[in-house]
Amino acid sequence: MAKERDPARDVLLVEGARIGWAASGRNGGFCDASLTHGKINGREKFPNEYDTLHRLGLENLAELEKTVTEYGIDCDFHRSSTIGVATRPYQVEMLKASSLPGVLDRDQIRAEVDSPTYLGGIVQDEGKALVDPAGLAWGLADAAERLGVRIVEDTPVTGLRRRGQHMVVDTPGGEIHTRHVALGTNAFPSLLKRNALATIPVYDYALMTEPLSAEQMAAVGWRNRQGMSDLANQFHYYRLTADNRILWGGYDAIYNFGGRVRRHHDQRPETFTKLAEHFFTTFPQLEGLSFSHRWGGAIDTCSRFCAFYGTAYSGQVAYALGYTGLGVGATRFGANVMLDLLAGTPTERTSLRLTTTRPVPFPPEPIAWAAIQATRLSLNRADDNEGRRNLWLRTLDRFGVGFDS
Ligand SMILES: Cc1cc2nc3c(=O)[nH]c(=O)nc-3n(C[C@H](O)[C@H](O)[C@H](O)COP(=O)(O)OP(=O)(O)OC[C@H]3O[C@@H](n4cnc5c(N)ncnc54)[C@H](O)[C@@H]3O)c2cc1C
Repeated sequence: MAKERDPARDVLLVEGARIGWAASGRNGGFCDASLTHGKINGREKFPNEYDTLHRLGLENLAELEKTVTEYGIDCDFHRSSTIGVATRPYQVEMLKASSLPGVLDRDQIRAEVDSPTYLGGIVQDEGKALVDPAGLAWGLADAAERLGVRIVEDTPVTGLRRRGQHMVVDTPGGEIHTRHVALGTNAFPSLLKRNALATIPVYDYALMTEPLSAEQMAAVGWRNRQGMSDLANQFHYYRLTADNRILWGGYDAIYNFGGRVRRHHDQRPETFTKLAEHFFTTFPQLEGLSFSHRWGGAIDTCSRFCAFYGTAYSGQVAYALGYTGLGVGATRFGANVMLDLLAGTPTERTSLRLTTTRPVPFPPEPIAWAAIQATRLSLNRADDNEGRRNLWLRTLDRFGVGFDS
């Protein structure tokens, strides 16, 4: 996007490992228009500008779709409705009471996708797409290179400094001198001290099945291939891939003491076992189907569940982070905000409360770990207790902060 705005600009993308190896290449592939981690969170945190955020989110998704088409990116991007399924009676009551459009009863949802655990559901059509995330990340990198962007991989940035009019970007291979820096470091340690406690890495895990046979597909229905998730606090998300595998992820959201991103956290056998059990409870008709892939990855959770933005070094450095679990579409908006901020000309995007306010930071250790465990336990209890939130969760709600994936 930096090149598209100004083809004469020299753009260098510096990647510490490989393009798409982190969250962007291993996420669930739900590409949502929401810039606020969903409508409920957006309306709660930004009530006065939610309608604008909704419009900007739809525009952002349409632009992403246009990019995919124009650059011929092979990533199975397609608009698709999503279904939130109720698996507990209190969730059915909540849906009925919501008077929202798209509510399905038990028979209607089971006619779409068949699971004995489904009691009802809600279909959402607007602003929803599914994508092969690694295909998108690699395709965007190819498109950027075709526009003249230089990409260097295996080059971790170790620090930022200003020298004269320029920023100096330190790497093990040497210094990079530049006028402007846009930081998209996601769940990895921030290169700016001010952001050190603003996000925490939360690990999310997923399984991928072998391709389903025609008989197995017939046993689940799913002819409209919607993206699915359930309505609990600790929720599963799942979808079909182009070759009829099921990607099944979510539920556990693991914070490791000290908040470190480490490769060995990408595998968590106890979570994989739990996810597999939940899968066969949902789809007992698929008993015997095996899983070909298991993985996890770090999500940059912030206490307001949606990204925040800003500048440092007198406007020469911009950052966007804190997307929590919904960054596939929103990172494009974040890139635009960073480019606006670096250009120094106010835009509609840079004048929003979304882009001018910051989340409440997390406390340092060991308080962070204890508070997050208390929150996870409370969310789990709420799921088993008809959604009722205990005093701890109600206190967090009152301050507009929390923990999510
Ligand atoms: C398992 C999982 C499932 C998810 N599911 C969904 C989903 O279905 N829908 C959705 O919208 N979102 C989902 N997310 C979140 C989404 O993937 C992220 O919000 C999004 O990909 C963030 O993109 P990014 O480019 O900011 O970060 P990343 O993809 O993490 O990329 C950041 C890159 O910066 C590099 N980097 C960091 N620090 C440095 C440094 N100092 N020097 C050099 N390079 C550095 C890293 O190596 C990394 O490659 C999921 C995430 C996970 C882990």
